[in-house]
Amino acid sequence: MSKSIPSVFDAEPIPDCARAEVEELLKSGDLFRYTAPTDQPTPVARLEHEFAKRMGVKYALALNSCSSAIFLSLRALGVKPNDPVLIPAFTFAAVPSAVIHAGGKPILVEVGDNYRIDLADFEAKLTPQIAAVVISHMRGHTSDMDAIMALCNMRGVPVIEDAAHSLGTLWQGQKIGTIGKLGCFSFQSYKMVNGGEGGMLITNDEDVIAQAIIMSGAYEHNWQKHGLNINAFAEYQNTLPLFNLRMNNLTAAIIRPQLSELERRVTRGRRNHDHVAALLNKSPWLQVPTPLAGEVRAPDSIQFNLIDFSEAEARQFVAACGSKGVPVSVFGLNTDNARAFWNWKFIGNIPDLPKTRAMLVRACDLRLPARLDTAELDAIAQDILTALNKIKPAHSSFHKGSGAEHNRPVRP
Ligand SMILES: *Cc1c(COP(=O)(O)O)cnc(C)c1O
Repeated sequence: MSKSIPSVFDAEPIPDCARAEVEELLKSGDLFRYTAPTDQPTPVARLEHEFAKRMGVKYALALNSCSSAIFLSLRALGVKPNDPVLIPAFTFAAVPSAVIHAGGKPILVEVGDNYRIDLADFEAKLTPQIAAVVISHMRGHTSDMDAIMALCNMRGVPVIEDAAHSLGTLWQGQKIGTIGKLGCFSFQSYKMVNGGEGGMLITNDEDVIAQAIIMSGAYEHNWQKHGLNINAFAEYQNTLPLFNLRMNNLTAAIIRPQLSELERRVTRGRRNHDHVAALLNKSPWLQVPTPLAGEVRAPDSIQFNLIDFSEAEARQFVAACGSKGVPVSVFGLNTDNARAFWNWKFIGNIPDLPKTRAMLVRACDLRLPARLDTAELDAIAQDILTALNKIKPAHSSFHKGSGAEHNRPVRP
């Protein structure tokens, strides 16, 4: 029999070297990032410094979540009440929520069955009224950043990259999150680096970082503890609201030692994904979309489309996987799924987005953490294929074509 199915929700242990620092913090009780004097770098300041260096950017600001990073990015860009902000229709509910939190109006853009932004719809909706664009690289799938940046630069619209799930991804050799004016990352437990909760905002723009730091809660002269020589701090003093979205030292101490593990996790995550993708793509009924040319992914989950499935068959498939212990879900068939745009009733009128809807009701989602080994991956893939065989027996695939047309690269 196949190897038993591991829980795909378990995280990796926190590296041992984090324990000594956490122990020190517990002894001293020094958990607030701004308690220590200016000349003593706190765990949060050290994390920001190391993160900025790794990403090759000038500035990083540690926060309590990626949602806070997106919210502060919009505020720092000067988004005003009722300003329209473009976001993909396939993303986590946190993204339209951050837009609303900043006072903006989310405008949803169609996403294709390769999980990437539909460029024709994007261009059509990028009107002169659009105040900012948030590109969510949902589940680490990178949209065509060359095309997006060309359109946005031409029209002078600033781009925020929601790279919550893309830490370690490359686009044309450039780190995802460093292409737009701002990049936002998450350290929530289901992302590549596990801080329980946490976020990071990065940018090279000194005006933007000065505003973001103050608004994150650097009240009075606490901005001096960021060690940045930026005149704008003094200009913004007392002019901006203080939202208090800071990260605390305990979280930073848990996150920082994981950064040196990132390369290993990314390499293994990609290997795991590609291993399972190759097995699933052998079936004409399943399709794992090919990465775009120029994209080197850093996945910790897998998404695949059910080809020529009725809704009833899709539900049977999910149930059959579940009964084998493999928690596959279909984004748009799962009650109240926070990644299905029609469940975002808080944004007001839900637009008609037939492409994204069609994708969501047949797109499967499964976590595939970096720590899984080949035998575990084989067992997962085998159980998915066995479940599939109950709903779509192999012999009945004959009249459906070879499936090759579904596996063509999405960009030549
Ligand atoms: C997780 C996630 C977020 C939200 O991150 P938090 O740190 O939980 O606020 C936003 N966007 C995407 C694409 C995500 O995957």
